[in-house]
Amino acid sequence: VIEQGQPEHSVVTTCAYCGVGCSFKAEMQGSTVIRMVPYKAGRANEGHSCVKGRFAWGYAHHKDRITQPMIRARITDPWREVSWKEAIAHAASEFRRIQAQYGRDAVGGITSSRCTNEETYLVQKLVRAGFGNNNVDTCARVCHSPTGYGLKATLGTSAGTQDFRSVEQSDVVLVIGANPTEGHPVFASRLKKRLRAGAKLVVIDPRRIDLVRGPHIRAAHHLQLRPGSNVAVVNAMAHVIVTEGLVDEAYVRERCEIGDFEVWARFIAEARHAPEAVEDLTGVPAAELRAAARLYATGGRAAIYYGLGVTEHSQGSTMVMAMANLAMATGNVGREGTGVNPLRGQNNVQGSCDMGSFPHELPGYRHVADDATRQSFEALWGVRLEAEPGLRIPNMLDEAVEGRFLGLYVQGEDIAQSDPDTQHVTAALRAMECVVVQDIFLNETAKYAHVLLPGSSFLEKDGTFTNAERRINRVRKVMEPLGGLADWQVTMALSSALGYAMTYAHPSEIMDEIAALTPSFAGVSYAKLEALGSIQWPCNEAAPEGTPMMHVDRFVRGKGRFMLTDFVPTEERTGPRFPLILTTGRILTQYNVGAQTRRTQNSRWHEEDVLEIHPFDAELRGIRDGDLVSVESRSGDIAIRARITERVQPGVVYTTFHHAKTGANVITTDFSDWATNCPEYKVTAVQVRRTNRP
Ligand code: SF4
Repeated sequence: VIEQGQPEHSVVTTCAYCGVGCSFKAEMQGSTVIRMVPYKAGRANEGHSCVKGRFAWGYAHHKDRITQPMIRARITDPWREVSWKEAIAHAASEFRRIQAQYGRDAVGGITSSRCTNEETYLVQKLVRAGFGNNNVDTCARVCHSPTGYGLKATLGTSAGTQDFRSVEQSDVVLVIGANPTEGHPVFASRLKKRLRAGAKLVVIDPRRIDLVRGPHIRAAHHLQLRPGSNVAVVNAMAHVIVTEGLVDEAYVRERCEIGDFEVWARFIAEARHAPEAVEDLTGVPAAELRAAARLYATGGRAAIYYGLGVTEHSQGSTMVMAMANLAMATGNVGREGTGVNPLRGQNNVQGSCDMGSFPHELPGYRHVADDATRQSFEALWGVRLEAEPGLRIPNMLDEAVEGRFLGLYVQGEDIAQSDPDTQHVTAALRAMECVVVQDIFLNETAKYAHVLLPGSSFLEKDGTFTNAERRINRVRKVMEPLGGLADWQVTMALSSALGYAMTYAHPSEIMDEIAALTPSFAGVSYAKLEALGSIQWPCNEAAPEGTPMMHVDRFVRGKGRFMLTDFVPTEERTGPRFPLILTTGRILTQYNVGAQTRRTQNSRWHEEDVLEIHPFDAELRGIRDGDLVSVESRSGDIAIRARITERVQPGVVYTTFHHAKTGANVITTDFSDWATNCPEYKVTAVQVRRTNRP
């Protein structure tokens, strides 16, 4: 791959990394990309980009790309290259054999937040119509499923409230459990611009992230809480707001369920929620917490932006509802500069959820038990649909270990590396009789697969991604799929081989079907996307050009609903054997498990994950900067290099998870969010020691 010379032509498409969804011009010489240039007319990025997106095209041509379908009878056998026809026929006959032998529910599928809306829609359709069950789940299970649950319960829909531009109107910004500078750099630039112009910042994070004290930026308050105490901190802020008379009563009376509010106000006013009462638990000085709460309630237009530090906890869904409570109580939803906004980690995590990737929801977040919704799908799809929710990923894995779940179709997701408790995941995969992996590389999950289907990179895709602000962006094909078939064509062929025929000629036809069946997408079409550049859903008769800001005059559910959000400590406890808490995050140049970024020029900037440890804890253990250390938890242990820094507080250690050889998920717990099973990646009790073991 070269990066030089004048382009002969260019194609506008969308970055396939984070949920900002930057638009790029892929500049080409013939069929070769020579560089990616941020696209000025892209509404999410307006001509900006980060170092991940700039070099993303590097991995598309990497020598590790899988370009030939392969099969094997046992996972210990060598792979055998076969034709697409043979691979698809083999996969379909294995899935049908398993269903005949073990029952209809013994198979399922996992969709990917890396794939397009159209591809995701087809996988869930294959599972529901082809397999005849609801055993479909998505990698959003392990990141933002609590967002879906919490925002739907309180505001009425599973999505952020604002567009990115809204932050330019904010007077106060709360950044909770997110590190935008590293994880969402282009949004971070917008945010920093606003902060430099005078907006006040409150950071709630166990680690001193760059935003706390960066060039020309200083957070008004950094609530450096203990990992796992999020809900107690936000409840304490709400306590201050209620007991000090800072509630926006007119807003609450007009916009919210007043009975629920009164119950919540009495609950949150209890003395046990006071900042002083939770000071020891959270580690946050009560005076600092009170000041932050007052600033949020009285400082003007206040917005909340949050990340996986909120969701990947045993109380992830509770925390999302606690933040929504805070926003509603202060009238900070439905106006510019306000809102509750998830910073989505993956390019299409919003879209994969919108497209019905959950075992209990059809596209558009409608429950499978809802007869009218199910009937509309049945009429168009020509099948009878199951009204009972299916299995979530953790349930599929548990059932597999028990010998009741034997067949899995995984599109663009590496559960063996990215899901918690790696040993359990691999035991489940080993127990299955047919694992079909569709991916661009031979990933960790593929080591347990029986059928390997070449996937297509974002440069080979035609379709749409939906970013964190609900913006549907076009993804345009820059080059032909290296394996010969696009992902949507592969799913279509597999479904047809299963006996449920799919016959789309182009992804635009899939979008037309999505629009016909999903009220929030009713006005979306490729023609409109071409005309407008992008569209934020809901887009329908009431909002033909889309909806930049939600809940303006009324909440999607009618009235906003306050939910009781009692703090329940995680079951993951520190003690003499495991005295430190490990938490995790990302760095600017790398993306998730690094499968793509480590195969681009970005690998130059990050050769290994390191463990951040406070000087106090390091000295106690005789650890020097750069020493190799073992990190041991109740689940396992890993070896990693130590970096001594005061960015973390005493008692807390931190690492990234971009390198497979670090294997951070070997040591994470199997505790998960009570409502959604989202894993509790952010709190693991560990011991750290010097080691010589490589
Ligand atoms: Fe934009 Fe995110 Fe891609 Fe960076 S990684 S270019 S911020 S979409």
